[in-house]
Amino acid sequence: MGKADLHTHTTASDGAYTPEKLIRHANDKGLETISITDHDTIKGYLEAKPIAKELGIELLPGVEITASWMGMETHILAYCFDETDQDVLKLLLGQKRARKKRMVSIVDHLQKQGVDIDIEEVKAEAGRGNIGRPHAAEVLVNKRIVASFGEAFIRYLSSEKLKDIQTEYSSLENVIKVIQNAGGVLSIAHPGPMYSSRQITKMISMGIDGIECIHPSHNFAVQRNFSKTASSNNLLITGGSDFHGKGKTDYDPYFGIVTLGDQHVSSLKRMAQRRKEMVV
Ligand code: AMP
Ligand code: ZN
Ligand code: FE
Ligand code: FE
Repeated sequence: MGKADLHTHTTASDGAYTPEKLIRHANDKGLETISITDHDTIKGYLEAKPIAKELGIELLPGVEITASWMGMETHILAYCFDETDQDVLKLLLGQKRARKKRMVSIVDHLQKQGVDIDIEEVKAEAGRGNIGRPHAAEVLVNKRIVASFGEAFIRYLSSEKLKDIQTEYSSLENVIKVIQNAGGVLSIAHPGPMYSSRQITKMISMGIDGIECIHPSHNFAVQRNFSKTASSNNLLITGGSDFHGKGKTDYDPYFGIVTLGDQHVSSLKRMAQRRKEMVV
């Protein structure tokens, strides 16, 4: 049976591997299908396309979008949308701006707590990647303000610590509309303990197409429960390793191990195909 990983990150956002290195790594691990789901950008996916073609790996268009919903930042995985669709590109550009503004606010918030950090340091850490909290965490580690990446999140960068920061991320309603109009499908990323069952039901009623049941943060019972919810609502089951590159998160050892079966990949592609036929 073919193995797939539909959740990975590269240097185009907060991953450590370049798109090319990621595809080569996937090939070494025997993955047949992969999706690069960088945070709010498809640059890594676009860069990886020719390499995937050369190696004979199936690369599905993907992106992990941060959407505003009920006062939370929710992560939504989008797949198989038309990557040239102007509304998708406009959405991602808005998200990039929202990330930059948010980071200015985060740095400001840290400075007010007496933390010696500057926005230029975080920008330098992000390089050409879409800026995010892991880049700020790296700065804090490099400057020995914290002892580890994890500590940076616990002390300064968790959602709880940043709950008063206003963001301009797109609404979930808009994300669903734009991606589906571009022939794409959407899955709730790593729902784990994040949402109540009422919230999951609400997202389903809003038009979400799938649930990321398979994720390194889900134990077997969690995976089974979400899979049941997905099946009883005729939703897609998606999954992947959420690989960010060595050392960046606890999930990295699961690359090539936490995988999705090819029957789920086929269902996803079929749904996206049907949607494209309806859209046109
Ligand atoms: P952002 O896109 O700026 O909201 O940052 C989200 C990313 O931060 C996630 O994809 C992870 O890579 C990382 N992250 C979030 N929470 C933690 C945590 N508690 N420990 C380590 N990394 C985290
Ligand atoms: Zn990330
Ligand atoms: Fe995520
Ligand atoms: Fe992710």
